[in-house]
Amino acid sequence: MNHDDLRHWSKHAADWAHDYHTTLRDRPVRAQTTPGATAAALPTAPPEQPEDPERIFADFEAIVPGAMTHWQHPRFFAYFPANAAPASQWAEQLANAIAAQCMLWQTSPAATEIEQVMIGWLRQALGLAPHFTGTIHDSATTCTLAAVITMRDRATGWDSLQHGLTGQAPIRLYASAQTHSSVDKAARLAGLGQQNLVKIATDDAYAMDPDALDAAIRSDLKAGYLPAGVVLCTGGTSIGACDPIAACLEVARSHGLYTHVDAAWAGSAMICPEFRPLWAGVDGADSIVFNPHKWLGAQFDCAVQFLADPAPQIRSMGLRPDYLQTPGQDQITNFNEWTVPLGRRFRALKLWFTLRAYGLEGLRTRIRNHVAWTAELAEKFRVHKDFRITTEPRLALFTFQYAPQGGDADALTERLLKKINDDGRVYLTQTQHQGRYIIRMTAGTFDCSRDDVMTVYDAATELAKTL
Ligand code: PLP
Repeated sequence: MNHDDLRHWSKHAADWAHDYHTTLRDRPVRAQTTPGATAAALPTAPPEQPEDPERIFADFEAIVPGAMTHWQHPRFFAYFPANAAPASQWAEQLANAIAAQCMLWQTSPAATEIEQVMIGWLRQALGLAPHFTGTIHDSATTCTLAAVITMRDRATGWDSLQHGLTGQAPIRLYASAQTHSSVDKAARLAGLGQQNLVKIATDDAYAMDPDALDAAIRSDLKAGYLPAGVVLCTGGTSIGACDPIAACLEVARSHGLYTHVDAAWAGSAMICPEFRPLWAGVDGADSIVFNPHKWLGAQFDCAVQFLADPAPQIRSMGLRPDYLQTPGQDQITNFNEWTVPLGRRFRALKLWFTLRAYGLEGLRTRIRNHVAWTAELAEKFRVHKDFRITTEPRLALFTFQYAPQGGDADALTERLLKKINDDGRVYLTQTQHQGRYIIRMTAGTFDCSRDDVMTVYDAATELAKTL
């Protein structure tokens, strides 16, 4: 295949993509396949001779779409969305065509500088203070890992950079049980160990109790541990819990600890000023992550980290071996020095296109609709005698159970969820909360409509009757 063939097949792919997206509602949302079926459809050895693009494409059509869960399906309500605006897809096509590796300013000046400007645009869009700068990572997980490694190294006075953790007192991190498992993963990967991530008690609303945080840090100091940092959540994955950011940051600051706020999902909603009370005080954080790939339309992968001061993270992440030296490097930004991987994709382009193609007002309207429709759906379930709202709507997320009188609500809810996802009209996933099996409902795909959201009620009530 050469570039002339590529032109033909790119146009063909664009037509295919148009048909795919405009007929998504006709497909079941969750893949209706069985483990091993796709692998069994592929030859067991690679081809020795070039194959005809016609055949390659035919196999793609026959094998792939039917065995995919359709994340851009307007009735995808599982996990959190990974939404993709058409303008973002367009930008990705162009970034793919250039196929740059954007590790240094010199390898990609436009990518580096558009990234800097996009961080500034998003900072303003989210209403954050002007002192924040930042960068783009692939995922919130690597971003949180970078923040945790920075906490660790800073707590050791940067000694760990040279000597590792040998001889150090055990380093402690603090987070509530509502934070995402990426915080646990970061504690493990940073060599701190799961048991040194202290899970702080929460209040009735599942928000971290600042007094409990203070008590845990004091008790650790007395016991000879080395407290390093606090990770707070705005919009926890399970039920959307939000920590009291201002009060917890004050506690962290009083102990000189580094702070990171995980707003991977909820951060996008902060383009709407009315939701900002959910993270009031966030301007005092050292680091904040949010994923435009979850709810802003800049497709996966795109995790934005805001940093009050990039210097500590660069001290942990930044290396300049001879082969990466470039002239004038002290006057420019080489973003690889801010992140775990060296290589980086041109992720800023899709932010630039998406923000321009819809404008903040267009994006706000979408998010406000998702929130309003989710609340409306929750009310429908609330008044149904056989359903129970288990956690209240937080932005565009709530949870519910199928709990007819005299039935085992956990078992029935689990059976109902399986029926719903086998049915295929909508896709929902579960979580556990207070020992109960509950269904999570979160709206957020780019093309989702009010009718799509209300289909959850129709499917759930209809299928419940068959249990
Ligand atoms: N933090 C929160 C609150 C999340 O909901 C998620 C994923 O859903 C993550 C972090 C991890 O995100 P990523 O897939 O970008 O690593």
